[in-house]
Amino acid sequence: MHSSGISWTDATWNLVRGCRQVSPGCRNCYAMACAHSVNKAHSKLGFPEPYEGLVQIRGGKPKWTGDVRFVTRLLVAPLRKREPLKIFVNSMSDLLYEELSNKQIAAAFGVMAAASWHAYQVLTKRAERLPRWFAWVVRTAAERGLTPAQFCFACAQEIGGADASCAKVLRRHEVIAAAADAAWPLPNVWVGVSAEDQENANLRVPFLVKAPAAVRFVSAEPLLGPVDLTPWLNDIAWVIGGCESGDGRRPADVDWLRLLRKQCLANGSAYFLKQAVGGVGITCGPGSKVKKKGIVESPYLDGTQSVAFPIAAPRCIAAPPRSPPPRSAMNIHPLQANGSGVVQEANPDETTQARFSPEDEPAQASPQEPPPGPRRRCASSSR
Ligand code: SF4
Repeated sequence: MHSSGISWTDATWNLVRGCRQVSPGCRNCYAMACAHSVNKAHSKLGFPEPYEGLVQIRGGKPKWTGDVRFVTRLLVAPLRKREPLKIFVNSMSDLLYEELSNKQIAAAFGVMAAASWHAYQVLTKRAERLPRWFAWVVRTAAERGLTPAQFCFACAQEIGGADASCAKVLRRHEVIAAAADAAWPLPNVWVGVSAEDQENANLRVPFLVKAPAAVRFVSAEPLLGPVDLTPWLNDIAWVIGGCESGDGRRPADVDWLRLLRKQCLANGSAYFLKQAVGGVGITCGPGSKVKKKGIVESPYLDGTQSVAFPIAAPRCIAAPPRSPPPRSAMNIHPLQANGSGVVQEANPDETTQARFSPEDEPAQASPQEPPPGPRRRCASSSR
């Protein structure tokens, strides 16, 4: 997991690699260019390419191939970070990607249930999958006699079982207990859709409002036209606006940014203006930063800065205690196999010995994953 330069988050958790462009907002997807640079930097030093086969040069530019890889080794990354963070889930891909299985998505939610001291930002352009996936979780969990959070955690245990280090973390008592106790929908997961223009707002936001998320948000970035979210704002807690950055960026009219803010103010939704080109109406002030090509991060729009979050974020609750619980406590949350074959109870002997600590970091990367190599920070969020 990496710290992030994206102003509305603290860190990114990219457990999925690869994607496919789906709408105009994807045209200048920074993740494709970033993946290509990461590959190049790794291969120059003789390391395996993390995005091998997932991105290729077409028409002189890096493009996703459409293949996708779920990086099991990274599944438990949030559990290794003890300080509460706002975590952007898959800043380089899309957790609802068509070729990911329902179970893989559930595994990510299972870890979010267990590492509940973080706030997670799940942003998708595959909005149509959201209500279907939530319904599948609730239905399948009920069939197995589990709560949705317990079922998601069981998926995490099953998928994470393929990686020894991951499996070890997912057998910890406090990790199992946190997932077993988690409410549904998970109160620390914010689910959002991208709405770069009205057409995509009309397509995606109706699916978002059908999804039983604790916090719903819309990212109107890169903003490519005026967007009216009024019909849905009662169910939207947070709106992000901002212009496109990088090569070939398309302009965002300052009136479109004004329109978004006006709607949020009228409906009581939090508004976060991430970036805009400096000029008439857009200025720099305390807390803003001028970036390349005249783009101002956290700008002042008509003299006011908008950097609001939907709730006092992140949910600053304590990470689980480091001390092992008494042996008797192990029976409180019996996540037992129940015919589904997916759930494995922790071995009490092992668990009572266990401590959750940074030493759980794998000593070295598993063979199928890249070894530590050059790191590149990709700070745009207008993917
Ligand atoms: S912008 Fe997002 S959804 Fe579109 S191709 Fe890039 S990563 Fe995928």
